[in-house]
Amino acid sequence: MSMEIKGWISKMPEYIPGRTIEEIKKEYGLEEVHKLASNENLFGPHPDVIKKICENLSNIKYYPDGECCEVREKLAGKYNVDMGSIIVGNGTDQIIEMTCDSFMGPGENAVIADPTFLIYEKSVLKRSGTVIRVPLKDFRQDVKKMVHSVNNTTKILFLTNPHNPTGTNINRSELDFVMENAGENLLVVLDEAYCEYMTAEEKIDTTGYLSGNRNLMILRTFSKIYGLAGLRIGYGISQDSIISVLNKVKLPFNVNSVAQRAAVAALENESYVNEIKAKIEEQKKYFYDVLVKNGIGFIKSYTNFILINSGENSDRIVEELLKKGFIVRPGKNLGIPGYIRVTIALPDVNKKFLTAFVKIFNNLYKKG
Ligand SMILES: *Cc1c(COP(=O)(O)O)cnc(C)c1O
Repeated sequence: MSMEIKGWISKMPEYIPGRTIEEIKKEYGLEEVHKLASNENLFGPHPDVIKKICENLSNIKYYPDGECCEVREKLAGKYNVDMGSIIVGNGTDQIIEMTCDSFMGPGENAVIADPTFLIYEKSVLKRSGTVIRVPLKDFRQDVKKMVHSVNNTTKILFLTNPHNPTGTNINRSELDFVMENAGENLLVVLDEAYCEYMTAEEKIDTTGYLSGNRNLMILRTFSKIYGLAGLRIGYGISQDSIISVLNKVKLPFNVNSVAQRAAVAALENESYVNEIKAKIEEQKKYFYDVLVKNGIGFIKSYTNFILINSGENSDRIVEELLKKGFIVRPGKNLGIPGYIRVTIALPDVNKKFLTAFVKIFNNLYKKG
């Protein structure tokens, strides 16, 4: 190609996606493959959501509601905020992108944890901004250091609670510290993609922080506990003044009508969230039990995935797991070498996975 490639594109970090089920079936000649690499809710959405989608499919000849009114109305009720405080995106990813489109520019920067969710950096680079990376401490975001890394050209501070790829949390006193000390001229983006998996004691009502002077964008998604990852719909809650800026950069029909219908139905069946949370909680305990019993290290998780210490032979372990039909995410690709990240699945799959994993692990590390 003879056209110039923009500098920011050459600098863009590469996202290494989880491998697909079909790919692995073909490559290893397997009939049954389980994808445990992208943290979806493998129980899937509430049955009523699928029913509502099917009932409304004939409407796809129309453009969707560009303002996602029904979804925002439901969300406004859920959080007791007004509709003007909510924006809906084609996945939370798109809201991260719109936020950077709105507030990031050349010579400006964002503070991020290292490692963290890749989309933050990607969206910053796209606006010719730079990132200031603050290494994790004991697999947790070093919140104080992140706040102290803010300088006078910092526009956004990205926090993820619970964190991806580690599954660790940010606690209330750490969040209070951020809200009080992060400076007034920047936006704090608090990505809570997995917050519904936290227990009642662990969970923090972060919408309470919106009433202060702090510029804050809270991000949540239907991709995770609601089981709608394939439809791409997520949302942001912030001060009206910030949301109206994002609305200016938003594309007219950014969220498709099927996703909007599904999200409304999901919000009409909110108790399902607690059902899933309980199931994952129970399965997570099972993971912990098996790992502890076998002397295998892991990071305590506040989410539906677990970071497992797979040691120096991690590449080998990932490969052996593929042969057995389990796709996991190598920590190496996520900035945490020596670990694998595994999505907690349905009970029978978890059992098969752990049996296979422990066997592979023991063969490599506990010979003789
Ligand atoms: C999965 C995930 C999201 C959600 O992305 P969507 O675009 O809504 O699917 C956001 N942030 C983090 C940290 C995630 O892991």
